Amino acid sequence: MKAVVIEPGSVLGVLGGGQLGAMFTMAACRVGYRVAVWDPDPDAPAHRIATHSFPAPFTDQHSLERFADLVSVVTYEWENIPAELCRVLEQRRPVRPSSAVLSVIQDRLKQKGFLASKGFPVPPFASLTVPDQLSETIRQVGYPVLCKTATSGYDGKGQWRITRESDVREVEHAISESARPGIRWIVESLVPFERELSILVVRGADGQSCTYPMAENEHEEGILRITKVPAPGSSTVAERAAALAIQVVDRLEGVGVFCLEMFQLPSGELLINEIAPRPHNSGHYTLDACSVSQFEQQVRAICGMPLGEVRLLSPAVMLNLIGDDASFLMKSAGCRTLLDIPGAVLHLYGKRVIRPRRKMGHVMFLGETLGLALDHAKQFRDGLASGSTLSA
Ligand code: AMP
Repeated sequence: MKAVVIEPGSVLGVLGGGQLGAMFTMAACRVGYRVAVWDPDPDAPAHRIATHSFPAPFTDQHSLERFADLVSVVTYEWENIPAELCRVLEQRRPVRPSSAVLSVIQDRLKQKGFLASKGFPVPPFASLTVPDQLSETIRQVGYPVLCKTATSGYDGKGQWRITRESDVREVEHAISESARPGIRWIVESLVPFERELSILVVRGADGQSCTYPMAENEHEEGILRITKVPAPGSSTVAERAAALAIQVVDRLEGVGVFCLEMFQLPSGELLINEIAPRPHNSGHYTLDACSVSQFEQQVRAICGMPLGEVRLLSPAVMLNLIGDDASFLMKSAGCRTLLDIPGAVLHLYGKRVIRPRRKMGHVMFLGETLGLALDHAKQFRDGLASGSTLSA
């Protein structure tokens, strides 16, 4: 199918104005587009750099009319925006990825159900609608499990680990407290993975797609902390991950940038944990270490332009700055010297309010080898940890 090209000079609409929306906006402006950002939070980072800013609730009809009149295409930076808003906007403008794709992805049960029905590898899972059936539901999957809210969870929020029958009562109580009409949970087998991997795939409106090098990720308390690229280890795993990513997004008929998060088992087998229908935190290395970033690809894909050729220019390690990390770094003279570490590139997101688990920025370390980049990232992380202890 030949895609209609949205030309530079047009206004691109993005729903959500966090750091991913801001990075999308910068990439779009760099290639001559203007951007309308719609985010209910007036302090959202992307508002500061948007050409048009909509700091209104997503239910605001007047904003909906103005936004739809202004933009040539709509995308989003987060899967928890209302799919209904995308459905309404889609009657006026292309929404990429589509509202149909969004509604599958934003519900963990629908997403895993979709993947399983197409034969893609996922951890065993079951659906839970009534909290007091938790014990029975776990029996379908087998201990240990993770129980996650089917919608609106992210960065490990809304998740409970259950390793034995005696934990069930407590979790049942916790989920009953959070129960609302229509809420559902997914009960997933807790996978004894060897490592966590992710891979970006970009798919254009013409069905052409490309992938980025596979990344290896380390999480702390459910939040991404470190990404290493290229993921160490055998190239056959990376080839399998790339093939899987392309097939999944083809099956979804997705247009845009997607990220597959995966678990690698000790046997080498890959299981898909989740799909993000947008650029991903583990793909920030593409800003400093690739021929074309995930954000420029998002612009290209939604505008019907050819996708950029992906080349990794340097091994890279990304360290997320979470909660107080960024303020320690900037406020303490000792910590600021950490920015002298060779290969360090600083990104701060300009969020005004620091919260304990909030992503405030990241530092990229580029090195001739992955080992060198890792050594520098470790030096930085240790320095930050000791600096924060001293100033605490
Ligand atoms: P999620 O919000 O689903 O991406 O989960 C956040 C993190 O929790 C993941 O990056 C994993 O470290 C862990 N996790 C999620 N699901 C599972 C699972 N089924 N088995 C083991 N660990 C998991």
